[in-house]
Amino acid sequence: MKLYNTLSKRKEEFTPLEEGKVRMYVCGPTVYNFIHIGNARPMIVFDTVRRYFEYKGYDVNYVSNFTDVDDKIIKKAIEEGVTSDEISKRYIAECKKDMEGMNVKPATTHPLATEEISGMIEMISALIEKGYAYEKNGTVYFRTRKFSDYGKLSHKNLDDLRSGERSLLVTGEDEKEDPLDFVLWKPKKEGEPSWESPWSDGRPGWHIECSEMSKKYLGEQIDIHAGGEDLVFPHHENEIAQSEAANGKEFAKYWMHNAFLNIDNRKMSKSLGNFRTVREISEQFDLQVLRFFMLSAHYRSPLNFSADLMEASKSGLERIVNAADHLRFLMGNAKAEKMSDEEAAAYAKTEEYVKAFETAMEDDFNTADAVAAVFDLVKYSNTTSNEGSSKEYLEKLLALLTKLTDVLGLTVERKEEMLDAEIEKLIEERQAARKAKDFARADAIRDELLEKGIVLKDTREGVQWKRA
Ligand code: AMP
Ligand code: ZN
Repeated sequence: MKLYNTLSKRKEEFTPLEEGKVRMYVCGPTVYNFIHIGNARPMIVFDTVRRYFEYKGYDVNYVSNFTDVDDKIIKKAIEEGVTSDEISKRYIAECKKDMEGMNVKPATTHPLATEEISGMIEMISALIEKGYAYEKNGTVYFRTRKFSDYGKLSHKNLDDLRSGERSLLVTGEDEKEDPLDFVLWKPKKEGEPSWESPWSDGRPGWHIECSEMSKKYLGEQIDIHAGGEDLVFPHHENEIAQSEAANGKEFAKYWMHNAFLNIDNRKMSKSLGNFRTVREISEQFDLQVLRFFMLSAHYRSPLNFSADLMEASKSGLERIVNAADHLRFLMGNAKAEKMSDEEAAAYAKTEEYVKAFETAMEDDFNTADAVAAVFDLVKYSNTTSNEGSSKEYLEKLLALLTKLTDVLGLTVERKEEMLDAEIEKLIEERQAARKAKDFARADAIRDELLEKGIVLKDTREGVQWKRA
């Protein structure tokens, strides 16, 4: 299996640190709002990487954090007049709902930065002891120049960085020994969440969070560290410096980065007004369509989001689900139980599609080609199955189709989607039941809707509903 390593700028053969096991860390979102469709890209891409390793029989320990202490969270909390904790808890819960909709498996562990502060303090203390960090007025900085490998991931050299140093000088940080030094711990400002430390009441810098959480849940050395390409510098470069300086070992063997998602060929940003959350997309499309769309491109190529491409993804996915439906329909009516010799020979030919699928995935997770292999299998399934097929043959085809689509995280079960009109009709029936004081019936309707993902809210203006 080959994967592109940002560290060496080449595709490399994957060799695990420990036979049969993969230790993988993916930087998670900062939780101050609903996740946007850009954040969804690394989630879907690296979940697919994980699923492929599992398909190959690896035991994957997959860790992805939530950054739940950050300036943006604090700002949002002040705006709403609530605590930072309330903001981060709310958006972690919402993020998990979106992940479920996109069929992103929960990580083995989802650590929260705020619950790992003592480990971070220990790591910072170790860095100070080794001379890699120093304290000034309650702030602790990493001594970048002391780490001689600095720049090895982003392929930058210190002198180039130095010439751009003005941009590295942040207000209030002019006490640094060197403009390249970055923050490990900072004192609190009034009203900010803070923790006690040997240096000041304050909070950790963003980079140290991942170094510590990765170490705690995966050990000092891991196989794969991943995230979006914007994280290469400075976030991942700084993580390497901290972890390797503290532990004295190579941190991650392979560094994987997904390219960005743009909207209508422009960068997605709040100021351009083209910012889309996953939740908004879920109001128009099943999130499986979003997942299918993301996998239709290679993860290292920029991907452009547009309504047309989503429609095309919707029909692509439909083709696969239709083929599975067709097999299920034929299975219900099949006369013969066991495969004939001809069918056994026909089934043996599907090996070709499995091979094409695996070849694509093993070439740095080329999901676009893997999807093409699934389409070829769909075509083959449609043309070789009919009313005369045996149940066994149909079952085998369906099992194979399910197995491959499952690696991509796509489900071939048709989801029963309730139409707006059906929902409205049930709501009316519930209102009538309540009027007649038949509360058992009214509650039963509410539960039935909830099971289908429809949430009701009784307001003074009447009943409002939304898809959860
Ligand atoms: P953040 O919450 O900004 O730290 O982002 C969480 C993850 O989403 C990181 O891995 C980012 O690199 C990634 N990410 C953010 N925006 C985009 C985008 N437009 N396209 C692809 N990945 C993104
Ligand atoms: Zn990180």
